[in-house]
Amino acid sequence: MTNASIQLTVHFPPTIVKLKEPERRHDTCIEFTVRGSPHPTLRWFHNEQEILHTEYIRPDVAYYQDYIEGCLTLKDPTHHNNGNYTLEATNQLGVATSTVYGHFLNKPFVVTPTADTHPPEEETLGVSIAVSLASFALVLLVILFLLINKYGRRSKFMKGPVAVIGGEEDSSSPLHHVNHAVLSPCGLDSGPDAVVIGMSRIPVIENPQYFRHGHNCSKADVHHIKRRDIFLKRELGEGAFGKVFLAECYNLSPTKDKMLVAVKTLKDPTLSARKDFQREAELLTNLQHEHIVKFYGVCVDGDPLIMVFEYMKHGDLNKFLRAHGPDAMILVDGQPLQTNGTELGVSQMLHIASQIAAGMIYLASQHFVHRDLATRNCLVGSGLLVKIGDFGMSRDIYSTDYYRVGGHTMLPIRWMPPESIMYRKFTTESDVWSFGVILWEICTYGKQPWFQLANNEVIECITQGRVLERPRVCPQEVYELMLGCWQREPQQRLNIKDIQKKLFTLMKATPVYLDILG
Ligand code: AMP
Repeated sequence: MTNASIQLTVHFPPTIVKLKEPERRHDTCIEFTVRGSPHPTLRWFHNEQEILHTEYIRPDVAYYQDYIEGCLTLKDPTHHNNGNYTLEATNQLGVATSTVYGHFLNKPFVVTPTADTHPPEEETLGVSIAVSLASFALVLLVILFLLINKYGRRSKFMKGPVAVIGGEEDSSSPLHHVNHAVLSPCGLDSGPDAVVIGMSRIPVIENPQYFRHGHNCSKADVHHIKRRDIFLKRELGEGAFGKVFLAECYNLSPTKDKMLVAVKTLKDPTLSARKDFQREAELLTNLQHEHIVKFYGVCVDGDPLIMVFEYMKHGDLNKFLRAHGPDAMILVDGQPLQTNGTELGVSQMLHIASQIAAGMIYLASQHFVHRDLATRNCLVGSGLLVKIGDFGMSRDIYSTDYYRVGGHTMLPIRWMPPESIMYRKFTTESDVWSFGVILWEICTYGKQPWFQLANNEVIECITQGRVLERPRVCPQEVYELMLGCWQREPQQRLNIKDIQKKLFTLMKATPVYLDILG
């Protein structure tokens, strides 16, 4: 018997099957579904004027075999945004258009005072009382805010996982003169957002630590370093923010004249990139632990903007694992050459994993949800010292590890649990899931999880409950830890402290040979 198959692709013109009137909300969206093959190109018009994508209005689109789903997202729409919204879908077989009316806010009522417009007396009295009450409430709020700042207490009026990080002095740090910062409680002021994956519209629940940007948040006291003290030596890599260099930095340590550091440069200092830079610097200033990469400060006198970190001589953990695995061949002049790395053994793998777990225990204690834990975001220093080293800046070089949903949202789906994929729910438990994937990456010497599958297949697998297979070198007990991280129900997952304990027990049973690295 023999058989053969061919794929039949039927092309058809676009049809707009859904275009939903937007709700009147702070952040809202016009949901749509368009069918067509090949995939139609979409254009949006507001009162017949083509819409240019901005921070305030942009389409988020997900592509499927013969249809497209998505949202035209409007952030803080005002009465200027009221009007007709037309979606035009075009492919080589035709064009379809459809229009909905969006009504967001009423035009503000403007009163032009004239000689004969006198408000009635009781109305004036009412207004005065209202103004007095509002002023009184404002004064109370200011006093309350000052008290919170002064005593650094978590207010029961503030919602969300807020943290008060005390100025914990790190005696091993050469930076004794750096002011440690107190991160004040902040409200969750980041507006809701949404993307579409599969058939569901998924709300974005932002990490309050990543995305706090209220005026009422007291800023961390970021240490400033002078440009003339930084001397670049060579390029180390490239991240989403820009290039990373090895540099010498003077006057950083009271005991050393100069020291080696890694500097991250901000390649595109648009206003929003500058804001991200500032936010990241404040966040890093507040996170201090032996398994979190040390942040020394920023240099903002001139361009480019620079962040200064401790130098981790073996670079990122993913590269490191690959260089110390069975496939560690590099081509020099077309000839294969074994890199200096000896293959990592199980004891070293456990040692690496337990250090990341230690960093995560600290993050969890600070109510910090990382949301992007992966080996590419960890760094390796001398003596197999491993630290969590990236807080949202590594998306360029490892771009295939991320899945673009809609216009600009990139998700590390291969490291995400079902609830993060389906509802964008990120918690300490979803970080634990990612830790399970990190364990898997370590045991496979840096393979990409689900490397054999395309992104949409990965989503299907994870949401249907499939988990990664046991790597060849992985002991059963370590695989059981992974399975404990990959419980579908977040509450059923192992807790990171217990994971670390288990790793320690396993490490005791396996002798540690750390001498492979200087
Ligand atoms: P990132 O922008 O953090 O993704 O960094 C890009 C690349 O630069 C990483 O993949 C590392 O190889 C390298 N790198 C970043 N930070 C450091 C550091 N502190 N020490 C050594 N190498 C680093």
